[in-house]
Amino acid sequence: MDLGVLALQGDFAEHAHALRRLGHNPVEVRLPRDLEGLAGLIIPGGESTTIGKLAVKYGLMQPLRVFAQTRPIWGTCAGAIFLSQDARRPQPLLGLMDITVARNAFGRQVDSFETDLDVPALAEVEAKTARGNGQPGPRPFHGIFIRAPLIERAGPGVEVLARLPGPGGGQGPIVAARQGRLLATAFHPELAADDRFHRLFVSLARGEV
Ligand code: GLN
Repeated sequence: MDLGVLALQGDFAEHAHALRRLGHNPVEVRLPRDLEGLAGLIIPGGESTTIGKLAVKYGLMQPLRVFAQTRPIWGTCAGAIFLSQDARRPQPLLGLMDITVARNAFGRQVDSFETDLDVPALAEVEAKTARGNGQPGPRPFHGIFIRAPLIERAGPGVEVLARLPGPGGGQGPIVAARQGRLLATAFHPELAADDRFHRLFVSLARGEV
């Protein structure tokens, strides 16, 4: 399957590696015509203002919105910001997901962190896909947060996939969400040695989940 990775800025190469590991052909998307024939698109992490400005410059805003009407898009970190409806500051956004994000919600680069996340939806994918390890269960996903945003509001059509642990073991802020065929993660699965989020995306592209 041909799957696109928006290659304007950011860590698109890491996503391409992850897709290749799963046996798919990653296509680097820089111009509207590169979207032709793709079964889905990943928007990588990086710097969301830069990605947005370049997308405007290369005439990608409308083609990406049209693409999303029929095919899945997954945004990681800056990509999730770019997918959102509102980042509470002026910058070009696709406005596709009914979420409000808080950019750099944890502070500066030095405040980046890693933590294990409970993501029940991944166990489901594992059970459904042939590449699962045969032991679906509550295996945590290692979340790598690099100057990450938070999803501070998710609309009624948005399914929350993961939250950070809150104070006292309660429910913390949203860090992964799905709205139909759109996926947003505040962290970077492409940097973790765990392909489950990429497999979830492939399943979305196949229309399996
Ligand atoms: N801080 C970046 C932004 O606001 C996102 C960082 C990332 O993608 N790792 O766009």
